[in-house]
Amino acid sequence: MQNRLPITVDPIKAAQKRLDYIGHYPIKSVTRIEGLKSDIECSLSFYYDEQKLCVIAIEAEATLEQVCQRCFKPFITHIKVKNKFSPVKSDTQAEVLPEYYEPAFFNEFGEVDILALIEDEMILSLPIAPVHDSKHCEVSEADLVFGEISVDNEKPNPFAILASLKNKE
Ligand SMILES: [Zn+2]
Repeated sequence: MQNRLPITVDPIKAAQKRLDYIGHYPIKSVTRIEGLKSDIECSLSFYYDEQKLCVIAIEAEATLEQVCQRCFKPFITHIKVKNKFSPVKSDTQAEVLPEYYEPAFFNEFGEVDILALIEDEMILSLPIAPVHDSKHCEVSEADLVFGEISVDNEKPNPFAILASLKNKE
């Protein structure tokens, strides 16, 4: 078991060695997840399946802050992703993968960017319009009956919201 997670890895070599990793990607190494509040805790396994396909199994979780699209207050949420990938060189290879694997494209160095895969999975798992649990939300269901909430607008700037709250106090 390895503790230092690779950012990029040669998945073929890693699968031949049957490598497993458990560890975390420090929050500062993650650039594409907005509102991330924790390191990404992650486990990785590299192996060959019965069909001799190289497999990258990923489980990852993290805490992040989102802005509720109903009351526009920030809230903390926990996300967890789990998926299996198989490395491919082309779209043609990706198309013939069994459907239980996602394609993971090799980069020009013959490696797969594991952190980018995790970031993609996490971004895809997020709701388009995040909202509080209704019991925590400051806008009640009753209010919603009378007002149309548009989720198409640009995300409000959380700092602007904080500033306006401060002014009210
Ligand atoms: Zn809310």
